[in-house]
Amino acid sequence: MEEMVVGSPELVLAKIRELDDYLLVAHIHPDGDSIGSLLGLADLLEQLGKRWIIASAEEVPSSYRFLPGSEEIRVGTEGLSGSFRNVIALDVSEALRLGDLQPVLAEAQVVINIDHHQGNSFPEPKYVRTSACATGELIYELFLAAGLKPTVVGAKALYTAIMTDTGRFSHANTTQTALKIAAELVGLGADPHHQYVEVYERKDIRLLKLLAKVLDSLRLVCDGKVAYLVIDQETLAGFPLDMGDTENYISYAQMIDGVQIALLFREVEGGTTKVSWRSVPGVDVSRYARDFGGGGHVNAAGCEIAAKPQEAVQKVLEYLQSRIC
Ligand code: AMP
Ligand code: MN
Ligand code: MN
Repeated sequence: MEEMVVGSPELVLAKIRELDDYLLVAHIHPDGDSIGSLLGLADLLEQLGKRWIIASAEEVPSSYRFLPGSEEIRVGTEGLSGSFRNVIALDVSEALRLGDLQPVLAEAQVVINIDHHQGNSFPEPKYVRTSACATGELIYELFLAAGLKPTVVGAKALYTAIMTDTGRFSHANTTQTALKIAAELVGLGADPHHQYVEVYERKDIRLLKLLAKVLDSLRLVCDGKVAYLVIDQETLAGFPLDMGDTENYISYAQMIDGVQIALLFREVEGGTTKVSWRSVPGVDVSRYARDFGGGGHVNAAGCEIAAKPQEAVQKVLEYLQSRIC
């Protein structure tokens, strides 16, 4: 898959300088990159003397609440109307992925988009570069273009964005640039150990008990090329979790020798199933996820299927039969 670049940090920075009164938003099911990029960009806007607010469709997951400024993120659309003029949409490739926040786009005079996903469909002005390890990397480029440096608050936020979207500096997007930026951010006050502990440790024991149950569902199919895990509502019963808590479970399906595609099927309310896709280099799962109405990156993608998990498993495995099995 070829690198796709639309726009530039300079172009987006010029637009940001020209306008004011921003509402910053990112994709549903917030992750480390979406939260980190929001807070990192807020740091830049502050330094540029701009007025801004941040909104999220859902609560900030507990693992990211250690980030300074995360408590200022508003949840939902209440009170937003009339309190901004322009929108900056981060780490999101299509309006639909803003969830309940989608209506804010219609109210904005200008919508600026900064993103690194495949198949980005936002209109310009935007800066999209699919080879960036995280949207946080693109925000860092905006700082460079402005001749500014993140404060300690921005450094922690952007480091979190890069640490999480590179899978703790392990995925194929862990480039020299990613590591260089991370090192710069450490120089500016990011704390690798502390931030690792906040995001990946300090878990409730129930999360590990749940992992044991979920691992029981692990199956290897398609001559060992595909591994999948299932989390249904029955398994989840009694576990007070948010979506982010089970985000890393898929790594157990990925770590099996010979596996090319790892899948995690998680039942969400309303009888739909969220499917996470991960692949080895050379296998493009963003295309597969897009065939199910989703999208993402070449080696990490997602989609939602309007069916219970067992039926979703059948649909996906049937689809993969002619493609990889
Ligand atoms: P996840 O499996 O949720 O960690 O998602 C992996 C990647 O795919 C992330 O970059 C997501 O932004 C993207 N993604 C997940 N679900 C969807 C979806 N329904 N539509 C488009 N992209 C998605
Ligand atoms: Mn994200
Ligand atoms: Mn991202």
